[in-house]
Parts: sequence; C-alpha cells; structure tokens
Amino acid sequence: MSAEHQSRTVERLRPFASTIFAEMTALAVAKGAVNLGQGFPDTDGPESMLEAARDAISQGLNQYSPGPGMPVLRHAIAADRARRFGTEYDPDAQVLVTVGATEAIAATVLGLVEPGEEVLLIEPYYDSYAAAVALAGAKRTTVPLVAEGAGFAVDLDALERAIGPHTKLLIVNSPHNPTGTVLTRVELTRIAEIACEHDLLVLTDEVYERLVFDAPQLGHSAGSTPAFSGHSAGSTPALHVPLCTLPGMFERTVTVSSAAKTFNATGWKTGWALGPAELISAVRAAKQFMTFVGGTPFQPAVAHALDHEDAWVENLRRGLQSKRDVLSTALTKAGLDVKESSGTYFVCADVSPLGETDALGFCRSLPDRIGVAAVPVTAFVDHPGSWKTLVRFAFCKKDAVLADAAERLLAL
Ligand SMILES: *Cc1c(COP(=O)(O)O)cnc(C)c1O
Repeated sequence: MSAEHQSRTVERLRPFASTIFAEMTALAVAKGAVNLGQGFPDTDGPESMLEAARDAISQGLNQYSPGPGMPVLRHAIAADRARRFGTEYDPDAQVLVTVGATEAIAATVLGLVEPGEEVLLIEPYYDSYAAAVALAGAKRTTVPLVAEGAGFAVDLDALERAIGPHTKLLIVNSPHNPTGTVLTRVELTRIAEIACEHDLLVLTDEVYERLVFDAPQLGHSAGSTPAFSGHSAGSTPALHVPLCTLPGMFERTVTVSSAAKTFNATGWKTGWALGPAELISAVRAAKQFMTFVGGTPFQPAVAHALDHEDAWVENLRRGLQSKRDVLSTALTKAGLDVKESSGTYFVCADVSPLGETDALGFCRSLPDRIGVAAVPVTAFVDHPGSWKTLVRFAFCKKDAVLADAAERLLAL
C-alpha cells in the first residue's frame, strides 16, 4: 500500500491499514512456503452441511433473511447451547445471527460502548478487537497473559488494577488465539467476580469452544501422525467453560461464536451473538446497518450441522489434537521452546533458544530460509515485552502438509 493511499485513511483506522498476516501470506506465496501463518483449515466441513447449503440455493433461499437471522438457525444455536452447557436463550430475543464472529464482535462494541469509554483486552488479543474499539471511538487498555507452567494464565491482579471509572467492557477469548490457552474454571470464576464487582459488560469470544484438547503427547517422530487413540491415561483434558454460566454473568455477557472453526467453514462467515435481550438488541442496532443480514443459504446448512454433526466435530477435535502433537514435537526437535496448547488451531513457540531475539525478523526470514511461514505474536500485542521472541504456528492443516512442514523445520 502506498504512503499516499494510506494517508487518506481516517486517523483512528490508520494503525490497522495493513496486517502482518497479509505480509506473511504474501511471502509464503512468493517463496512457495508451507503457510502455517494464517489460521484456516485446508479441508471441508461435514458433507451433509455442504449439501444443505446447495439444497437451500436450489430451493430458492436466495433473498434476505429476517434481520435477526433465520429462525431455524436461531433455534439450532439455542438448542445446541442448552444441550452442551445447560444455558437457556430465547431464540427470538436473545440470539442474533451475524456475518461471522467478526461482525458480532464489532457490533457488540459499537452497540454497547460510548466513544471515549474504555474496553479492556487481554493481551495477546485477536486483531479485530482493537480495530472494533477504534471504530467505536473508544479506548483500549490491555492486561497481559503471563507464563504459568508450560503455558499461560491471566494476570488477575493486573486485570483488577486496570479497571477504572470509564471501563465499560471486558473482552475475554477462551480457548485463546494466539496462545492455545484454555482458561480454567478458577480463572474464569475470578474474572466473573471482578466483572460483577465493577459492573462491567463482558464479551466472550468462544469461536474455538469445541476445539479443546487433552494434555499433549509429545515425542512421536516428527512428520508421523500419532495413533488416533483419543484420551490417554492420566491426561487432563481441557474443558471449555462459558463465562455466561458463572454466577452473576448471564445478565452482563454477550457470548460470541461461529460456524467457522467448528465446521471448517471460515468462508461462510456465519456467526452469532447470545445474551440477554437488552444487550442483544443493542448489538442488533449496530449490526443491522453494517450488513443487515448475512448469506441466507448458509443459515439452514449451519443449523443442520449444529443439530446433526456432533460426531463430525468430535472427529475434527481429535484430529486437531493429534496435529497439535505432531507440530509441537517438530518444533521441539527444531530447538524451539514450545508452549503448551490446550485448544484452538495454534501453538506458540519461543525462538530464543535458537539465538533469535526478534520474532518479527525471524518470521520475515523463515519462508526464504526453510520454506515455512508463521506469524510473530507481537502482531497481537500493544506491549511487546515478553512476547518479542514468540511465534504462532497453525496446525489446522492436512497431515501431509504438516509432515512437510515438520521436515522443513528440522533445517533450522
Ligand atoms: C477466526 C476467529 C474469529 C473470526 O471468526 P469468523 O466467524 O470467521 O468471523 C474471531 N475470533 C477469533 C479468536 C478467531 O480466531
């Protein structure tokens, strides 16, 4: 992008004009590298879901859906949540279908936060949060994840200290992109207490709600997929706890999720927001003038998948768990200090044991050096500090692609 072109961008969006993801993907393409930078799967979702979308088009479901989304999808979303977490949402007043989780996030911030109010983010954070805060003319404050055990935990004292008189909304993402951290019930309980004490609204981004794993099984030879054996004796599987299920949280929480990561359908951009009617109507007020509605034929298809494809999703989860092990093993063999990933598509690793001091420089050179692309975790933070040497790798790729990447990594 030329400097001249960029200078026309409004000031509050200028920091977001270009992203490291686009830069690394362009490098990957130019160098023919295996792209472990961007987090999208390279296989399709359940066949019955794809078929349902084709049927919907054939049957003429090609015009605007109702503003809140098609009833069949809103009912399926509420029923799925009730089945898995015991939460009750009224499909008519408390469920809103959005253009992916991304729109649900932007509309939540735009609909609930006044210009000048503060939004608290836990860093590293998914890049769209800061942009949504900027779109709303609000201010962001961040509190860090900190190293704990083989992974990360929320700095709860910093969280409490960061809350001021203008703090309106806290955004929590678990399972967490980019680190793969799954917040524990103990952490979430304390976050809930803090939110209640300070009367905060909370947005929880739960797009990886189904993709949580058992403790890692490392040591398989790089490039081979471990046996598809599922739970191993003695491991403690991570458990996803929706924040809205904790005491005092239902009335202050907008829960956001999406079909993208659950059903390998990132291109369908079909997501949703759930919450009490007074919050969801605020989200809808913003959403209706951004896009009005999303793609109609995808909605009955996602409803079908929510109703019928639990077994497919469990298979996806187990496959990703094995891929997490394969990539973690390969990165360890390559000499990186691998952090434990308990969910999502991602594992982070510290490159300082290789003598590297800057993850961004490392990622810029990687496609040329060994034919692999990844992204620096500094792309997800305001305060590089302890994140300067951390790199995020995506493992949501075919086994053959990961095996190829594993081999290339050995050249480090
Ligand atoms: C992928 C992702 C999203 C975006 O989801 P869409 O449904 O594609 O908009 C939101 N949050 C996180 C943490 C993600 O990784």
